[in-house]
Amino acid sequence: MSGANKNKTKYIVVTGGVLSGLGKGVAAASIGRLLCSRLKIVPIKLDGYLNTDPGTMNPVEHGEVFVLDDGGEVDMDFGHYERFLNIQGKFGWNLTMGKVFQEILERERRGDFLGKTVQFIPHATNVIKERIYGIAREENADILLIEVGGTVGDLENLFYIEAVRQMRHEVGQENMLFVHLTYVPVPSGVREQKSKPTQQGVKLLNEFGIYPDVVIGRCQEYLDDHIKEKIALFGNVQKECVISGPDVESVYEIPLVYEKEGLSALIHKKLGIYSPPALEEWSQWVAAVKRNNTNPDKVVEIALGGKYTALEDSYASLVESLEHAGAHLGAKVQLRWIETSEIEKGSQTVAQALNGVDGLIIPGGFGARGIEGKIQLIKYARENNLPFLGICYGMQLAVVEYARHVCGLEGAHTEEVENPEHPIAHKVICYLPGQKNLTKKGGTMRLGGHDVEIKKDSRAFKIYGNSVRIRERFRHRYEVNPDYVAQLEASGLVFSGKAPGTPIMQVVELPEHAYFMACQFHPELKSNLLEPAPLFHALVHAALSRRNVA
Ligand code: GLN
Repeated sequence: MSGANKNKTKYIVVTGGVLSGLGKGVAAASIGRLLCSRLKIVPIKLDGYLNTDPGTMNPVEHGEVFVLDDGGEVDMDFGHYERFLNIQGKFGWNLTMGKVFQEILERERRGDFLGKTVQFIPHATNVIKERIYGIAREENADILLIEVGGTVGDLENLFYIEAVRQMRHEVGQENMLFVHLTYVPVPSGVREQKSKPTQQGVKLLNEFGIYPDVVIGRCQEYLDDHIKEKIALFGNVQKECVISGPDVESVYEIPLVYEKEGLSALIHKKLGIYSPPALEEWSQWVAAVKRNNTNPDKVVEIALGGKYTALEDSYASLVESLEHAGAHLGAKVQLRWIETSEIEKGSQTVAQALNGVDGLIIPGGFGARGIEGKIQLIKYARENNLPFLGICYGMQLAVVEYARHVCGLEGAHTEEVENPEHPIAHKVICYLPGQKNLTKKGGTMRLGGHDVEIKKDSRAFKIYGNSVRIRERFRHRYEVNPDYVAQLEASGLVFSGKAPGTPIMQVVELPEHAYFMACQFHPELKSNLLEPAPLFHALVHAALSRRNVA
């Protein structure tokens, strides 16, 4: 087709077999990590659902919504890509069936297909390929790392599978590599590795016309030699192309495992490229994470109060950020999940829930459920000098708490939970300008990377290395009501960060407190193993001081 690969771009496609949850995103990111020292890697995620993006999905359904600098709300795998590859993703790199069909329907109404029957094949597959080739061209990428969502055989992903099959035909096999991530169970009864699910999974992939070049076997341990042989024989790959993907202490170890298994040399050979795996600094921090997970020098416990605590994936980047900070401070950060609606029911007092913890995080969130429980936790942290970090909703609720209990603004609340029967006495958190009358929900929040002006000599200023201007990522519809800022300040709350040239407050702090910081942005979205996000690093440091082990 027109637009096919006429440039230098090579393609690596990662598919998953047998079952979901094997860590395809981490596998793809790890492959990228091995190749990124000299090559420009552009990750692409193909998702089968019909939402345009995950922005309107409940994180319990689909995990964390990752927000990119360009404002795109994308699949949480972009968190892995950015953390492993040290790049900034773009919204267009997350293709969904929602975006594919939207384009087809718009084109159909425009008359682009006049006289033709518009069909899944070739029209949907053509849109998919055009988007992929378009990214390769625009980005001038050396490697497009394409992760196909779901498990091979899922109907909703079949058009992606067909599109990448056609692509191999178009770009030539020397330019495209198929990596299949599969599962090798060790059933408790037989206690040996079993290759049958992999054999059948690869066969299914073959039925769709794809013959993997590399098979990665996720297993609780390294693959036995004879299992590799079996997978090679029945999967139709060379034995050295069967790679172990054992359980590891930390996901950051996976590039090191793949390297040990010879994966980068294999990819170099197959695609005719070269990029030395630069893993020295990386492996040092991996060792620090592993030490923390197995035999830590120090331990701190941080409570996380939220309403999605049923699913840790909802807070994936946040959990990672604490791991990064812990690695740099030589301390294991243990998490205590607190479901804040339980606090409201009174099944536990706040003091009981926080007993023995060294810090508290109230992360981002939406809606009314669990909100009073969060406010109670924040009050306790403020009054008991417990290190506290409030993120987005967590900052807004810290302001509500302060307004109610320190400023004496009884009935202070956020407009987000306003109920026509019970109007809010003091809307200390209100709609951002232009948000109130929006009728559409998708992609309409204040999103993406924005500059923040930091007040000189504040704690935020010191935490960010004496910077007066930082850039962080946002996802919100509400803000601190500018009408209440002076009153809040007069009673001791310090606003130490704001959107330049506006009265939009973005960081608050309490100078007399051991550590009371809250931000309107999501610092967890920019943290990585080599460079932890400053606000998390400082929180863990404060937690260590509280334990007297800093
Ligand atoms: N619900 C709040 C808002 O829309 C906070 C959003 C968040 O925590 N990401 O402003």
